[in-house]
Amino acid sequence: MLTATIFDIQRGSYVDGPGIRTTVFFKGCNLKCKWCHNPEGISKGIQKLFYKDKCVGCGKCARICPYNQKDCTLCGKCVLYCPSYALEICGAEYTISELFEIIIKDKSYYESSNGGVTFSGGECMLQIDFLTEILKICKKANINTAVDTAGNVPYEYFEKIIPYTDTFLYDIKCISEDLHEKFTGVSNATIISNLKKLSKSFKGKIVVRIPLIGGFNDEDSEIFKIKDFMLQINVSNVEVLPYHKMGLHKYEALNMQSAEFYTPNKEIIDSFKKLNK
Ligand code: SF4
Ligand code: SF4
Repeated sequence: MLTATIFDIQRGSYVDGPGIRTTVFFKGCNLKCKWCHNPEGISKGIQKLFYKDKCVGCGKCARICPYNQKDCTLCGKCVLYCPSYALEICGAEYTISELFEIIIKDKSYYESSNGGVTFSGGECMLQIDFLTEILKICKKANINTAVDTAGNVPYEYFEKIIPYTDTFLYDIKCISEDLHEKFTGVSNATIISNLKKLSKSFKGKIVVRIPLIGGFNDEDSEIFKIKDFMLQINVSNVEVLPYHKMGLHKYEALNMQSAEFYTPNKEIIDSFKKLNK
């Protein structure tokens, strides 16, 4: 049976496309952006998080674990017994019908707000067969659909889902290939080429989302390249997502290395608004 690994489902979201939406976060990404505020979405596998600052040292997790906390099977027993919410299992398998049952619950909100469902991640397009099927079912139920992607997948994946997608939220991190590779671990050649193709053939909306990260893409020369590229392609809207530190605590909980960045100044952020006039 077709399943997807999903790490979060946010109902009542206002930030991932038009109106009130349900946003579904697929686990697994083929970029490793150093500023990622959802680091739990990078690995495809289910993971256990440990928030050291919440732990009161009661020892219940050790006593309850059938494996003495060695060779963890991610059974989740310790999470249930932890009195201070210091432990979390991140990620679960969903079938198409299990996920659709959650999405359809808010159909009246979607209708009253011109909202719908957004598939995000991680990179939702890496689980393309599941994504295609759930999009088809949502469209059949007259639910507006959006796909939030970093675009680093074969263009054929876009061709599969275009008929069932109303909006693409498409991330562009920077234009310089070497800079992209240094901060995300991959070249942006496929990402740029896919967006160019998509902007020529897709009849729905494309919203380009640019994370503005101080210490990564806030140099004048890079900002010029991003704006220049945006002026060359045909998209509905450009949104900037200024850096914030809200995901930093998750790096420690996942035993991952975090990197320090800063929020670029307001002038830089505001200058992108002109691209929408
Ligand atoms: S998730 Fe299960 S196996 Fe893993 S440490 Fe907790 S109780 Fe032990
Ligand atoms: S059960 Fe929770 S609070 Fe108690 S030691 Fe384990 S992680 Fe810490």
